[in-house]
Amino acid sequence: MDYQSVLDLIVDEVRPLVGTGKVADYIPALARVPAARFGIALCTIEGDVAFAGDAREPFSIQSVSKVFSLTLALQKIGVKLWERIGREPSGNPFNSLMQLEHEQGMARNPFINAGAICVADQLVSHCAAPKDELLALISTLCGEAVGFDPEVAESERSTGFRNAALANFMKSFGKIDNDVDTVLDVYFNQCAIAMNCVQMARAFAYLANQGVLPTTARPIVTPRQARRINALMLTCGTYDAAGEFAFLIGLPCKSGVGGGIAAVVPGRLALCVWSPGLGASGNSVAGMRALELFVTRTGLSVF
Ligand code: GLU
Repeated sequence: MDYQSVLDLIVDEVRPLVGTGKVADYIPALARVPAARFGIALCTIEGDVAFAGDAREPFSIQSVSKVFSLTLALQKIGVKLWERIGREPSGNPFNSLMQLEHEQGMARNPFINAGAICVADQLVSHCAAPKDELLALISTLCGEAVGFDPEVAESERSTGFRNAALANFMKSFGKIDNDVDTVLDVYFNQCAIAMNCVQMARAFAYLANQGVLPTTARPIVTPRQARRINALMLTCGTYDAAGEFAFLIGLPCKSGVGGGIAAVVPGRLALCVWSPGLGASGNSVAGMRALELFVTRTGLSVF
């Protein structure tokens, strides 16, 4: 398939939507990002890459990082992780406290904030240097060095009252083993990782390839773990819009408030779109439309 032409056409077609929606403004470093940006990239399981638009411009990956931290936690402790975290969609806002109280501090899934903080806690328990190991994993996945944006990380920390509340609340139920500030430091930094669309598409290709990194043939997770991560992305990866994503796009996706969305076509390729304007569900408006166009044009969908 001529993916390059498909991506070029999508850039043209989504142009009227680029700049619409609302750029995340809970910290100044994100509010400053120009709304009128759109990038798209894909990486096939053969390791071939195609990209268009602002695909080389770094953005704050935010919640997309939750897939990488989950991957690292599964590498470290495997199924034991599920003693601490559920696998059901939450149907509540990503940073909700209410559900946690009902469920005795057990986070519904690893892609809401409570679940990701719980994953970070497990990384603190099982990694000698969790932040370095997370960066090393992502750098291996995309074949290039990636890093934290220190300004974003510091702003996450200084405004992260609700995340601190979630962590302390879970700690009160015995669901967090380590010092809350140490755990939150991992979580805030992972949100502040900067990547571009090409790096992100490469970094997700193992999930399209049964857990094996296409470029080096290195196993990252087992085929079963890859299937399960994809299942969680499909059911829990896009805030409260997982049903809408399944309906319109039909691919495992993980989105972030920086406007990035990573998507997986199992057995074929990984895709990343980025456009900072968010819709009411917190997902990139132009990014969502671009994924819908990609699936329509190529017929590549799980369904
Ligand atoms: N860093 C923000 C938070 O933890 C947003 C993460 C996201 O959903 O992309 O509240």
